[in-house]
Amino acid sequence: MTSGAAIGKAARSIRAGGLVAFPTETVYGLGADATDDRAVAAVFEAKGRPRINPLIVHVAGRGEAEALAAFDDRARLLAKRFWPGPLTLVLQRAPDCPVSWLASAGLDTLALRCPAHPVAEALIRAAGRPIVGPSANRSGRLSPTTAAHAAAELGGLSAMVLDGGPCRLGLESTVVALGDGPPVLLRPGALDAAAVEAEVGPLAEPAPWAEAGPRPSPGMLLRHYAPDSPLRTGAASARPGEAMLGFGAVDGELNLSPSGDLAEAAANLFAMLRRLDGRTGIAVAPIPERGLGRAINDRLRRAARR
Ligand code: AMP
Ligand code: MG
Repeated sequence: MTSGAAIGKAARSIRAGGLVAFPTETVYGLGADATDDRAVAAVFEAKGRPRINPLIVHVAGRGEAEALAAFDDRARLLAKRFWPGPLTLVLQRAPDCPVSWLASAGLDTLALRCPAHPVAEALIRAAGRPIVGPSANRSGRLSPTTAAHAAAELGGLSAMVLDGGPCRLGLESTVVALGDGPPVLLRPGALDAAAVEAEVGPLAEPAPWAEAGPRPSPGMLLRHYAPDSPLRTGAASARPGEAMLGFGAVDGELNLSPSGDLAEAAANLFAMLRRLDGRTGIAVAPIPERGLGRAINDRLRRAARR
């Protein structure tokens, strides 16, 4: 676990323009001062992330968030209900918002989240500024859900890694855009979209699988969250040479959740894919398309693309 001294050191590093990998309840993030252009540029560089793909800005609380973006009634309602937690809100940037334009890829909207993790919260508070925190992996690859995975992803990079143990949820946040018209689900994630709909009504859904045409969110990359090995979804059993990743009664070399619990499967997903990575192929058992299963299937579909 992480000491107060380690958090203090990490916060000083952030304030000096450095990068720090830190735990959240979703996945490990690669943190940097969101108001520092050079630090934000270093995050894109370290991840090999396309600069058109904007970053989520992490804040310590709703008050801090309201200083950065325009909160309407729905945004306030959702933030009150689900923050701290795995919900990212995409809102209009405030006129005097100090966040680097690079962080939002030049868009006049900003993605904001308040993570529910004591280390993340302590780090943001100690740094005293908003922190960008994309997942601490090379762009396109599996997200890290342990400090060791984050360190492995970042390789030789001179970033400090704060260890907060394995991530409780293990899947990225749910991303909802609020503008004119109905709220839009830009990314299914660790917060069940149905819980958001219970507060603000039906979420419009973009069509992320369209091969061409503009994307409602720049990060809707078709191939993402991917192991090196080819991945096959909805598999009843492994083909010769493949490693089987089971779910429920469809068993395998590893099983995301023998009891068929979707929250357990989400928490295990990236770590188990990592363990099976490097094999000739990975076959994944069918995951029901309900609740968290939607977010798991979203990740698997993208991981399966070549
Ligand atoms: P990541 O940092 O990899 O967890 O991804 C953040 C997600 O939020 C990506 O899908 C981004 O495209 C999306 N996102 C961040 N900022 C915006 C924004 N201003 N408008 C729309 N989507 C955004
Ligand atoms: Mg990511």
